Amino acid sequence: MMDYSLRCTKCSHAEADDAFRCSRCGSILEVRIDYSSIMIGKAFRSRRVKNSKYLLLFPIKRFEMEGGEGGTRLVSHNIGAQKVMFKMETENPTGSFKDRGSAVEISKAVELGRNSVCCASTGNMGMSVARYAKLAGISATIFISKDASKEKIARIKSYGARLVKVDGDFNTALRNAEAFARKDRTFMCGDYHFRKEGQKSVAYEIIDQCGSPDFIFLPVGNATLLSAVYKGLSEYVRFGLLDSMPRIVAVQSEKCDPLVRAYMSGRHLEYVKPKTVADAIAVGYPTFGLEGIAALKKTHGIAVNVSEDQLRDAILMLEEKGIGAEAGGAAGFAGFMKFYENDREMFRGKKTVIVITGNN
Ligand SMILES: [Zn+2]
Repeated sequence: MMDYSLRCTKCSHAEADDAFRCSRCGSILEVRIDYSSIMIGKAFRSRRVKNSKYLLLFPIKRFEMEGGEGGTRLVSHNIGAQKVMFKMETENPTGSFKDRGSAVEISKAVELGRNSVCCASTGNMGMSVARYAKLAGISATIFISKDASKEKIARIKSYGARLVKVDGDFNTALRNAEAFARKDRTFMCGDYHFRKEGQKSVAYEIIDQCGSPDFIFLPVGNATLLSAVYKGLSEYVRFGLLDSMPRIVAVQSEKCDPLVRAYMSGRHLEYVKPKTVADAIAVGYPTFGLEGIAALKKTHGIAVNVSEDQLRDAILMLEEKGIGAEAGGAAGFAGFMKFYENDREMFRGKKTVIVITGNN
């Protein structure tokens, strides 16, 4: 395992491994890695993609379960005359990229001797945390909006988790879950620093599979994946495994686009009441919003919103290509189509990767 410390993203205060926010100012934390403690060996330079290969870049001693996450395919398709590549995160065990983060987060909980975890969820997070807790032999409590999808709620229950239905949206569920974690000494899972570390492997795999892309399109809810992909790419640049940083394109629904509004206007991040069909990215105030905006700035990135009709069209177009995706999972592709329809030259001769994040 690498050497690291947990620090507040705002005031740099050091925290212990079981903290999930800064005890001084309440901001989120980051895993500050001592990169000199990491030796990238020859085996790492192979093109093979398997989550265990990346263990040396995760802040855990070992995986505490055989979860089967990661190693998803990167498949090429033509959109008209344009070739694009889809990163198939729907191939993860619970159908979304969340499993990569859950594997790291729950391994950390076990490493710290905890026997229970909790999280807030719009659905996908809850399914993933519930499954990984079960595999690790510990209990899970999931806080979810009472308006969440019935199918997702049924699947969370099927993994044996305790469910707490909340009258409100994701941010209400989050407040309740954090209060529970503090009171109950339960390990808090969700969009925090350890999950972000686990999700870096989406970036590692894209680079190992296709070399150096020009664009990476990502759906954005809490912006954990966005900031994780940026951190993963930066690490590959640091270790000489990637020559130039791709431009990241962050996509949100018009009906819930706080990050797009803040990035495009240069103003502060402000809460937006989510009204989108894309429940997986219906987050009114993204936890990693500030980190996500910084990631876009550093990659000359773009933020774009898409209409609910554009989301539906994207799902249908993917379906014709044999790719199943929920609205949130298809948002990256909807964002690509919005640009492509306006300016086909933008992508000519460029390597474009679109992450399909979930299908539930
Ligand atoms: Zn702080």
